[in-house]
Parts: sequence; C-alpha cells; structure tokens
Amino acid sequence: MTTSPSPQVPEPGFRQSVDMMFNHAVALMDLPSGLKEKIRVCNATYTVRFGVRLRGQIQTFTGYRAIHSEHTEPVKGGIRYAMGVHQDEVEALAALMTYKCALVEAPFGGSKGGLRIDPRQYEEHELEAITRRFAYELIKRDLIHPSQNVPAPDMGTGEREMAWIADQYARIQTTDINARACVTGKPLNAGGIQGRVEATGRGVQYALREFFRHPDDMAEAGLTGTLDGKRIIVQGLGNVGYHAAKFLSEEDGARIVAVIEHDGGVIDPSGIDIESLRLWIAEHGGVRDYPHAQVVPDGAVLLEEPCDILVPAALEGVINLENAERIRAKLVIEAANGPVTAGADEVLRRRGILVIPDLYANAGGVTVSYFEWVKNLGHIRFGRMQRRQEEARHQLVVDELERIVSSMGNGMTLSEGFKTQYLRGAGELELVRSGLDDTMRTAYQSMSALWRRRADVPDLRTAAYIVAIGRVAESYRAKGL
Ligand code: GLU
Repeated sequence: MTTSPSPQVPEPGFRQSVDMMFNHAVALMDLPSGLKEKIRVCNATYTVRFGVRLRGQIQTFTGYRAIHSEHTEPVKGGIRYAMGVHQDEVEALAALMTYKCALVEAPFGGSKGGLRIDPRQYEEHELEAITRRFAYELIKRDLIHPSQNVPAPDMGTGEREMAWIADQYARIQTTDINARACVTGKPLNAGGIQGRVEATGRGVQYALREFFRHPDDMAEAGLTGTLDGKRIIVQGLGNVGYHAAKFLSEEDGARIVAVIEHDGGVIDPSGIDIESLRLWIAEHGGVRDYPHAQVVPDGAVLLEEPCDILVPAALEGVINLENAERIRAKLVIEAANGPVTAGADEVLRRRGILVIPDLYANAGGVTVSYFEWVKNLGHIRFGRMQRRQEEARHQLVVDELERIVSSMGNGMTLSEGFKTQYLRGAGELELVRSGLDDTMRTAYQSMSALWRRRADVPDLRTAAYIVAIGRVAESYRAKGL
C-alpha cells in the first residue's frame, strides 16, 4: 500500500519527542503539576572538554554526562561514542534511562553520556588514551562512582572501553572496595557477568516471546500464531540487532527477510543467515557485494518492505514523518532508543501498526547491568555451586545479597526468580537469563494490563510511561524531593 506523504509538520527533535511522549502520559495521570515538571526535566548535564596528545598534536574532545533523575541512586546509563553526540541527545537518552529502569524495577535513576568522536578513525591505543582521559574527567566530578553514577556500553563502546574505565577508576580511587561496581558491561575477567553482551538482544527476544503470549495484544497488530515463520526486518546489525536477529531466527524459527546497514541493505524473502552476514560485514566493512542475498544500495527503502515485525536497532529517528506512512510492518519493536519519532508514532497508531516501546523493548541491557552491579557489590561468584552441600550457604548468600541491596535504600529487592534460581545452584548464565526473562515478562504484563484496563490509554508506549512515571513519583513521595 502506498499513501501520500504526511502534511509537512515540522519533525520534533529527539529530546522534544521524549517530552511529548512524557506529556501524553502525564496528561492521563493524577499528579501535582509541579511534580510532573520536576520529573520531566533533566537535573544536570555536564560538558567536559579535554585535550589528548595524539600523532604529535593536541586534539580536543567534547564529552557529556547528563543526569536526568536522581530519585534513586546510583544513576545509570551508557556512554556513546559517535560524531552526532550532543547535549539534547544525551538528555533525551538519560530521560529514557529513568523511565526504562523504573519500568523494569532496576533500582537506578537515569543518566547517559557521550563523546563526540568517530571511533573508527583511531587506533586502539589512541582510543584507550582518549577513554582514560574522558573517564578521569568524569571520575573526578563523581560522574563515575559505584553508588552515584554507573556507566555502561552504548553505541560505539563495549567491553573494552568499560574495562579501561573500571581500571582508571581503580587507579584513582585506590581504597574503594566496590571499585568494580563503578561501571557495568565489563569483560568477564574484569568483573563482568556472563550474558551482558547479548543482554539487550536477548531482552528483545524475551519481549517478543511475551508479546506472543498475549493474544489480545497480537490481535491489535493483526498477528496470530507464534514467532515461528514470522518475517522480520532488522535495521542495524550492531550488538543489539545482531543478537536479536540471531536468537529470533535460530531459536524461535523467525525469518530475517531483510537487514539494513549503514552502507546498504540485503533482502531475501526466504531468510538471511545472520552469522554469515555478520561475518561478511566484519571482513568487508559493510554489506556491499554480499553474495547470498540481493543487495540494495539505499538500505532505508527496506524499512518500507512488508513484514510482520520491524526491529529498528540502531539510531534514533529512523521512522519519522517522512516514511511513517509507508511502513508496512504489523509490529514495530524499538530495540534502539527513540527510533520512532513522536510524530511517526501517531501515524503508526492511526494506521494500526503496533509499537512495543524502547523503554521496555531494550531494557534487557540495563537489567543485566543491574545483576552485574549486584554481583560486584556482593563480592561473590555467581552460580557454580555444589548444590546439596551448599544449600545452606546459598541461603546465607541470598540473605546477604538482600541485605546489601536493601541497604542501598529505596526499597530495592532481589526478584523472586533470581532468588529461586540462585538457591537451585544454577550457573551464572542461566541465572542471568532467567532473571532477565522474569523481568521482561513482568514488565510486559504491567504495561499491557494498564493498556487493557484503561480505555483512555491509547497504546503500549503511553502505558509504559504511566507505569514508569508512577513509580518515580512514588519514590519522590516516599522520600521527598
Ligand atoms: N546503553 C544501554 C541502554 O541504553 C545500557 C545501559 C546500562 O546498562 O546502564 O539501555
């Protein structure tokens, strides 16, 4: 179906888009207007500029750390390396972290950081020098700290950068016994946790599985059956898109019919082999000339191909007022942060295309970050316990973990699923996956139940915001501003 383009309404920016979604939700909530405004605003954004001597010259870099809400501390959120990083973007992303954490009950406020840099232009040792210097600037302002502000990977960063940040923190704060908890997404041998790299993509899979357990919600999207055989288009085969596509095709029988990358797209209605495509991209720097599927130079047009599920897993704003009328998916799941603009969101809703919102869909990353942070604070090894002899000890460990977690304040608790698995002596990866599954299921149910219950709540996104904002408001009510 081709429809005429939407009337030329100016597209809101990312920050504005998040504000508009927030406003839609709070309009349906009974909260004092002063409190609404307090929750909406970003508390502080720090800009740091620093020089690093590279290739015989001093180069100046600009980085940010935005803190959206400190209703619970530490605040949490990734650090992004990209040329497009700017204040509005980190503030929008920090706000999304606040709502995301509240929705999945990860006991954190929202924060986000970014460094304006194209990481591909630098050698590894140069990136290390830049990262360590950026980390130093943030550490000395307590913008990286186990109980105040805990970064994680985001676009353009990964385990390697997190290891440098953790090491830099430990060198400066030499007496901090909790130093490892200053950042999550670390490599396993530097205090990381199994399953963190795959976590966001795994969370997208669990989110879709839970959606397919809700026939009423499926009917809204015109979907029936299970994930088996469903046609999926994935935009962005980075860490999130790759893992989501891999798990959905290998474990749930879904068919990845198109993949969109920065230099073009590939399409094959009979299904694309994700491992082979990923390998090709790693070796050739892009999808061009990929021999096993049709390659399209302008990848963006593939967003408009018919499919059951569209998974935008890269940048914000890719589904916007310009293309929203032409999207032919039944369901859009926002694996990225902010891929559908507020304007496009309305167009999709009018056209009967269901959106599973970012603050829920990509919350798997921060959920497993929470497990990693708890593991670091607990100073214990997860899993691998000799079951029979050690049941009593397991109980002690769980009690101790609960004590630590609750002493962080604000009514945090360990989830029942997590405790049960731990007491059974499950291995770390199993523990992480079951805790993540439990979290994604519970969060979906709270969002969907509200949508079903209230006729004035138009979609899952508004429902997710209402649940999240309600929890943040509750926390302010309980402890004051
Ligand atoms: N950067 C990820 C996100 O946008 C993960 C954040 C974290 O683990 O703190 O959710």
